[in-house]
Amino acid sequence: MKKILFLAIFVCSLSALHAQVMKSLTPEEKRVIVDRGTEAPFSGKYYDHHEKGVYLCRQCGAPLYRSNDKFDSGCGWPSFDDEIPGAVKRRPDPDGRRTEIVCARCGGHLGHVFAGEGFTRKNVRHCVNSVSLEFSPADTVREATTGQTETAIFAGGCFWGVEYMMERLPGVLSVEAGYIGGRKENPTYEEVCSHTTGHAEAVRIVFDPTKVSYETLARLFFEIHDPTQLNRQGPDIGDQYRSEVFYTTPEQKTIAEKLIAQLRAKGYRVVTRVSAASTFWPAEEYHQNYYERKGSMPYCHAYTKRF
Ligand SMILES: [Zn+2]
Repeated sequence: MKKILFLAIFVCSLSALHAQVMKSLTPEEKRVIVDRGTEAPFSGKYYDHHEKGVYLCRQCGAPLYRSNDKFDSGCGWPSFDDEIPGAVKRRPDPDGRRTEIVCARCGGHLGHVFAGEGFTRKNVRHCVNSVSLEFSPADTVREATTGQTETAIFAGGCFWGVEYMMERLPGVLSVEAGYIGGRKENPTYEEVCSHTTGHAEAVRIVFDPTKVSYETLARLFFEIHDPTQLNRQGPDIGDQYRSEVFYTTPEQKTIAEKLIAQLRAKGYRVVTRVSAASTFWPAEEYHQNYYERKGSMPYCHAYTKRF
């Protein structure tokens, strides 16, 4: 009970920090960003806009697109053939045909993404409402223009719970559930659960290293799952629930090993493996933001102070 209360306080305080960055919206911005509306074509201020810089989320300020990826599609809305890694989330549009794109940080509606139209070599078109964006000239957004995002990948049991806990940390731009460390390309949830592919359920976190350090993320990882359990987390049993850090830089490897050594010195029999990241396969759409959509709390993960 005590642990649950602590977790609630922890989650609430992080949510409060997160909420502070949200900007107030005009009625037209609310109509598009919150109520998923569309601005009239050829009307937006960024449709015919060619300055060098970065396009931020109007609602929360997260860097979303670079001017280098903007192209003229003639469709009447700003078009981009790529996004800043991890900044944009895709989900099926309620119309059942299109793919909606939203800001990965605040969930604000951006527009839709289309593939296979042949506009550019990347063959993708993010069709974005100007209203959802705020332009910033290159030299004022250091983090975005220098591509200052970093990726961390952790496996710590059921990815629903790890995603839920990690998403609340300020400086985290996006958290995605997926599979890593196995033998098959593009595995399905059923294949991973059949224990034949060798994948672990994992989360891929894109974060802003000027706002949150990898060490902070890794410490939280070791405190929201039990790193002493081998191939299970509580009620979830199987090697897909193993504890493993998949590092993307040599520095991350050093930090993960240092933290494991600290925990062992405190008497924890840590079984967490530390491995170089291989291909991360995003999980099926219905696994993304599972608890957020269900409006419930994780049964499988809670915060326990270990450091
Ligand atoms: Zn946003």
